[in-house]
Amino acid sequence: MVELDNLDVKILTHLQGNSRKSFNEIAKNCLTSVPTVNSRVNRLLELGVIRKFTIDIDNSKIGITEAILLVNASPNAINRVAEELMALEEVKELYVTPDSDTAIVSRIAGDMQRLLGIQDRIDLAGVINISVIPVKTQFKKDTTIPLASSSITLTCGYCDRKMTGNAVRKKFDDKDYFFCCDTCKGEFEKKYVKLLEKA
Ligand SMILES: [Zn+2]
Repeated sequence: MVELDNLDVKILTHLQGNSRKSFNEIAKNCLTSVPTVNSRVNRLLELGVIRKFTIDIDNSKIGITEAILLVNASPNAINRVAEELMALEEVKELYVTPDSDTAIVSRIAGDMQRLLGIQDRIDLAGVINISVIPVKTQFKKDTTIPLASSSITLTCGYCDRKMTGNAVRKKFDDKDYFFCCDTCKGEFEKKYVKLLEKA
């Protein structure tokens, strides 16, 4: 497991939002220098934390439908069915749930007719039930890093305390900060507003 600190998390969050964001802009938002951002990104790449820089396409703009595929199958068939499904280009994510109620849950995307006919393209031996449920509305698709993770050690922007649990995120003047609690956030805000008034 790779250990991350405040700056790593801030840089990753910026790049997740827009992988083409310039290191100059990221450095400004994170109160650091361009060479520092550059070396941190290289380290995250070398460690395999950043797998690739990619793009987010709005499928609805190009006529691609998204759906959820649910498959119940007997325990001895589940791996074979999962493998067959994974070979299909319409299968974007696939999860197998535990033994007692063995099932495959998968996010699929593609031409609607092809999605509805997905069961005709796999061997149904051992399959108890298979259904395709089209997605009507996508409410949340969030890939940002949950801060309460044992590999992340953040330092409070106000009291400097190290925190491994929940952190409060806040932007001031477009710069990113983490705080250990709402009190620290509030105190920082007061101090910050005073500084701004003096300027
Ligand atoms: Zn604090």
